Amino acid sequence: MEKCSIVVPCYNEEEALPLFYEAVEKVLSTMPMLEFEYIFVDDGSRDKTLAVLRSMAEADAKVHYLSFSRNFGKEAAMFAGLSESTGDYVVIMDADLQDPPELLPEMYKAVTEEGYDCAATRRVNRKGEPPIRSLFAKMFYKIMNKIAKVNMMDGARDFRFMKRVMVDAILSMKEYHRFSKGIFGWVGFNTKWIDFTNRERVAGKTKWSFFSLFKYSLEGIMAFSTAPLEWASFVGLFFCVLAIAFLIFLFVRAILFGDPVDGWPSLACMITFFAGLQLFVTGIIGMYLAKAYNEIKERPVYIIREKK
Ligand code: UDP
Ligand code: MG
Repeated sequence: MEKCSIVVPCYNEEEALPLFYEAVEKVLSTMPMLEFEYIFVDDGSRDKTLAVLRSMAEADAKVHYLSFSRNFGKEAAMFAGLSESTGDYVVIMDADLQDPPELLPEMYKAVTEEGYDCAATRRVNRKGEPPIRSLFAKMFYKIMNKIAKVNMMDGARDFRFMKRVMVDAILSMKEYHRFSKGIFGWVGFNTKWIDFTNRERVAGKTKWSFFSLFKYSLEGIMAFSTAPLEWASFVGLFFCVLAIAFLIFLFVRAILFGDPVDGWPSLACMITFFAGLQLFVTGIIGMYLAKAYNEIKERPVYIIREKK
């Protein structure tokens, strides 16, 4: 019988986990054609998540868990879960039931009968989310799809059902700065998109603040595009051309009208503007350099403290 691994990143999910398990078990009982295993990844939770996982593993032999030595982030947790998974298929699901388990049979069908390598999900609305956050998210996908070589679906979730080949492709990408939304697109394969309407989490609260999402979007851009570096040289070129035109203008004016000493305010403005622009561009280069520095150290993406 074929096996399916369910990878669940968990960070402070003590309240959600029992509800998650119950809801997923209900769906799994309607899928007797597959053998299942759970791989819960406790991402350095500070509540009783690990204790809950231990007792779940005690009660059910198909429950496995990993526990990190500290919080490494959801990206690291997903990577660890995929690395430990043994199934012919792998599903990634959030612990908060925002990824509806009822979709699993449909996803399974897409991969086995309809010839897809992967069934991915996206939410078609952003109900229950602050409007400003939705606006920025939309903008992010617009920019990203323009400048990056990979296609990213607006509203795509990490909730996907994948064949082993795709999982192995993802695992072959060993980068330290992981941005899964980009990695899923980069590896290719035929993906079926399944839409659903947004739901609120069952318990606990989201780990994302507006600022952390903003930083995450910059991570994504830097992981999959070098366009900002190219823009920097175009901006530089543009101002060189402008400077030459200005030089000619000053030269002609001095010949025709003589050279009275004025223009101090415009000079001051220019100096501050270009100093700012130079620092900004140096900053962009610095950010890429920092990423390269972190990659070159080849530190592990996560560290496991306990495993079952
Ligand atoms: N998560 C994690 N490590 C983190 C933050 C989140 O493993 O540092 C998990 C979390 O437990 C949940 C999933 O990632 O299962 C999605 O997190 P959350 O619900 O906070 O994100 P949202 O659904 O609001 O995008
Ligand atoms: Mg959530």
